[in-house]
Amino acid sequence: MHLLKGAVRTYAWGSRTAIAEFVGAPSPTAHPEAELWFGAHPGDPAYLETDDGERSLLDALRADPEGELGPAVRARFGDTLPFLVKVLAADEPLSLQAHPSMEQAVEGFSREDRMGIPVSAPNRNYRDRSHKPEIIVALSQFEALAGFRNAARSVELMQALGVADLDPFINLLQGQRDEDGLRALFTTWITFPQPDLDVLVPAVIDGAINYVRSGAKEFAREAKTVLELGERYPGDAGVLASMLLNRLSLAPGEALYLPAGNLHAYLHGIGVEVMANSDNVLRGGLTPKHVDVPELLRVLDFTPAEDIFVTPESHRDGAEIIYPTPAPEFSVSVLGIGSDQVGHEIDTPARHDGPQILLCTEGAATVRAKTDSVVLKKGAAAWVSADDGPIRLVADEPFRMFRVTVGI
Ligand SMILES: [Zn+2]
Repeated sequence: MHLLKGAVRTYAWGSRTAIAEFVGAPSPTAHPEAELWFGAHPGDPAYLETDDGERSLLDALRADPEGELGPAVRARFGDTLPFLVKVLAADEPLSLQAHPSMEQAVEGFSREDRMGIPVSAPNRNYRDRSHKPEIIVALSQFEALAGFRNAARSVELMQALGVADLDPFINLLQGQRDEDGLRALFTTWITFPQPDLDVLVPAVIDGAINYVRSGAKEFAREAKTVLELGERYPGDAGVLASMLLNRLSLAPGEALYLPAGNLHAYLHGIGVEVMANSDNVLRGGLTPKHVDVPELLRVLDFTPAEDIFVTPESHRDGAEIIYPTPAPEFSVSVLGIGSDQVGHEIDTPARHDGPQILLCTEGAATVRAKTDSVVLKKGAAAWVSADDGPIRLVADEPFRMFRVTVGI
């Protein structure tokens, strides 16, 4: 078992304070820090802190896949770590995006290979052959757009904004209040000529301003989101698309699971995100990056997403909260104790053999593995190889620790 040093990613939408404060580093930082990666992604692997200095987790897996990953995980996923753990800190909205299914990723990767688009090219959609299911667990209040809203409800929202220019689109959706209507309307907007967007988006922003000024409550969050997105991306179809998506606020500890085809944009907050180890992102706007509309439309799921919150399950008398998802690549839980159990040793076997990544998000605890132990404080992570497990935890104070293993 080793302490695991995450790789910081600086993107413009990141925060100069959230990740630095989380890991106990000086704040504010020189650049906005958006993500802290704990994994063995070739693009930015985490580093093991060993007696001989730092060592890339990727190199450690290559050198001893059997000891690090264990035979069961190798048999299922090969010699790679199938998941990636990130701390994500958004000060500004991320791009509107969706991820492909496994079949779509395999097909898309081969197609772009045949077309001769280099894997690292900015206009490449499929950078690997994997789907990218993801879960986000909020550490702070966390704001997001995720999944299409019930169409009838989106009609009500658009009517409430009182924008005459929206009438033809309201009529379109009212005539077909289901996933086909949502597909038709979204497709219309995402393929709208720029001169038309430059008229419609400002009109919708004016409607949102009037709605917020009126003091009306029902769609206040949705209207404010239109304003926030419109300010940063004037003339972007993503501003219109935001009216069709569920506007969700997560309290700390609440989680969303985003399956293939779910259109989403994280807006604000800090959270722990766990995903299959893939880079396959199809963007729909709210970004200066490559947007491939036909490919996005191919993968999108327009079925209204009524329930994408993950219902956590309490295990081991509340010492472990599991966030169940259907993803085979990962299983996420939070280990923790309250003040009444301080000093107790907690036996925490994983649900099966394989490696574990632990990430402490509150307090501190000592992690005891087969042959050694480490102390994890808030912001610190550890790699527990398949050979090192199972673990036990001892704490002198209340703590919360994320545990990520492969899925069932
Ligand atoms: Zn995503």
